[in-house]
Amino acid sequence: MSAGAETFKNYINGRWVGARSGAMMESVNPATGEALGLVPRSGPEDVEDAVRAAAEAFPAWRRTPAPRRAEILFRAAERLVARKEELARLMTREMGKVLAETRGDVQEAIDMSYFIAGEGRRLHGYTAPSEMPQKAAYCVRAPLGVVGIITPWNFPVAIPSWKIVPALVCGNTVVFKPASYTPLVGLKFVEIFEEAGLPPGALNIVTGPGQGVGDALVAHPQVRVVSFTGSTETGLRLAEQCARVGKRISLEMGGKNAAIVMPDADLGLATDALIWSAFGTSGQRCTACSRIIVHKAVKADLADQLVERAKRLRLGDGLEPDTDVGPVVSGAQLDRIHQYVQVGRQEGARLLVGGSRAQEGALGRGYFYTPTIFDRVGPRMRIAQEEIFGPVTDIIETESFESAVTVLNESRYGLSASIFTRDINAAMRAIDDIDTGIVYVNHGTIGAEVHLPFGGTKETGNGHREGGLQVLDVFSEWKAVYVDYSGRLQRAQIDRE
Ligand code: NDP
Repeated sequence: MSAGAETFKNYINGRWVGARSGAMMESVNPATGEALGLVPRSGPEDVEDAVRAAAEAFPAWRRTPAPRRAEILFRAAERLVARKEELARLMTREMGKVLAETRGDVQEAIDMSYFIAGEGRRLHGYTAPSEMPQKAAYCVRAPLGVVGIITPWNFPVAIPSWKIVPALVCGNTVVFKPASYTPLVGLKFVEIFEEAGLPPGALNIVTGPGQGVGDALVAHPQVRVVSFTGSTETGLRLAEQCARVGKRISLEMGGKNAAIVMPDADLGLATDALIWSAFGTSGQRCTACSRIIVHKAVKADLADQLVERAKRLRLGDGLEPDTDVGPVVSGAQLDRIHQYVQVGRQEGARLLVGGSRAQEGALGRGYFYTPTIFDRVGPRMRIAQEEIFGPVTDIIETESFESAVTVLNESRYGLSASIFTRDINAAMRAIDDIDTGIVYVNHGTIGAEVHLPFGGTKETGNGHREGGLQVLDVFSEWKAVYVDYSGRLQRAQIDRE
């Protein structure tokens, strides 16, 4: 751990405080190895403090009218606009993706904050006619209480915003545990809400490891809802833990996203989109395109174009304006990616480009992996089934539309998919038959917008959605209300005269 590094604190009950134990952990730039600062390596006792603060803040926040809660969230959006560049630069330094993408990450949080703050004046329920005369019937959304939020490092502002802003507008209070690769960005994001005037205790952040902080948060009896994004392995473990006590958990997990390329596709467009979907964020997106299912009539042509473009991608520090692809987040991820490349070779796939660590010059200081494309990939190979989470994509040849859709759906995951075709009938049939939460036509697998539901089928999730108005269902409970103003007993289902 570097001596003299800048130190940061948790935010609990409106105060910046260290871990009770005094322990710290380091945040490091994956492009350069530079130490960025020290943050609390918190433990269950800090989680206890944060949950208590959130529970104490809940009654007043719940009673604050939703339009007034939303005013604070609109101000948070304005603070994000003002600090966009600063946050983007810090994000690039902390997790590596290039500046254009980290600006996009902050922009997503801005969009989400404006969009969901607007719900402060809606949060619509509905009225319904009662079976009885002189009886009103309607339903409203009610908050649940303390929400525990656990997020990954690949979208360290956008993903927390998808969860924190809707949780708050619904009237819940929050304890947030950011990923240990991106604690600084998490702390700066929370600062935004402090500047916006959020009352003490409504939003708290505790940095520290998944085991020790994350699990203590999930297990805490006063945490009523957990919202998690990350690996399927961790997510399903947490879901088991929550199921034992009947706790609600919203899970956003892995993906093995695929694009279908039909013989009539615009191959130039498909190449642009697939390079972006496979290698943007160094392939570390839950929606990254890691399977390209291409009709045999155009496979050779598409493969040539993809390889040509992949070779030209410039690796480097994401702060440099001419960098296309930054580092992966850590040495552990780098090793994992390289192991998968070995698996692909052993399985008999043909490596067209990439397949090695990039170490020339300054790249040697960071965790860089060359954009990698495999050809002759069988749909059941491990590299076609398991989430690699790096700059690696597979080409799978197919003979028909039907077999392409079958291969696409043969996955434990169901997040995002796309089809490139000029045939409207094929496009519409793909929309019908693809079993994923997101389908694109003539677009890559990445690029979700905040006002539509985001999430996936099968082992990608557990039925919840983020984004859109659907996210409000994660953070609120429906309350049905009956007001009888007849002045007499009226028995539903029984008094029918
Ligand atoms: P994890 O699922 O382990 O981490 C995600 C979040 O969960 C982090 O905040 C992490 O904390 C936390 N966490 C870890 N263990 C626990 C626990 N026992 N209880 C509560 N919280 C916990 O993913 P990793 O970052 O370790 O990445 C591993 C793999 O997961 C990647 O290679 C990729 O395949 C997949 N992944 C997928 C993502 C997606 O968007 N689909 C996002 C991130 C990862 P901490 O950071 O302190 O460990």
